[in-house]
Amino acid sequence: MSRKTCTRCKHEQPLSGFQAAKSRKDGLQPHCRQCQRDYYLTTRERRLSLAHENYEHNRERKKKYAREYAPKWAAENRPKRNESEARRRARKLSGGKTESLQHIYDDVPVIELLLGEPCHVDHKHPLSRGGTHEPDNLQIIPARLNLAKGAKLDFDCSSYA
Ligand SMILES: [Zn+2]
Repeated sequence: MSRKTCTRCKHEQPLSGFQAAKSRKDGLQPHCRQCQRDYYLTTRERRLSLAHENYEHNRERKKKYAREYAPKWAAENRPKRNESEARRRARKLSGGKTESLQHIYDDVPVIELLLGEPCHVDHKHPLSRGGTHEPDNLQIIPARLNLAKGAKLDFDCSSYA
C-alpha cells in the first residue's frame, strides 16, 4: 500500500502526504498534512486565548499567593532579613571596604560560644539613622538585643557588653 486516504478530507494521497505517528498501526497520522495544517490554523485563535487565560489565571494566583504569604514569610524571617538588609546597606555605605571589618564578623562565633546564644554585628548608631559601617560603630551583641534595639537611637547595650 503506497497510498492512504485521509480520514478528514477523504482524499487518497501518497504516504508522504501524512506525518509519522509511532503509536498508529500504520505509523502515520490519520489526517493528511494539509488537514493537520488547516486544523492547526482554525484552532490557533482558540489556543492562543486559552494560553492567555491560563497566563492571567496564574498571574492572579501568584499575586494572591504573594499577598497572603509574603507578609507571613517576612514576619517569620524578619531577623534574618534585617541582618542581610543591614549588611547590604553597610556594603553600599562602605563602598566595598568591608574586608577590613571581616575580623569583627569572624569574632561573632567566638562571642556566641562565650555567651551561649546567637549574636549579631550591630551598628551602635543604626545605619538607617546615618551611622557608618566603621569599626568604631560596630559591636557584637546578642541577636535578641539587636532585634529589640532595631533602629532606636537611645538603646543602651552597654550593660550587656
Ligand atoms: Zn486531508
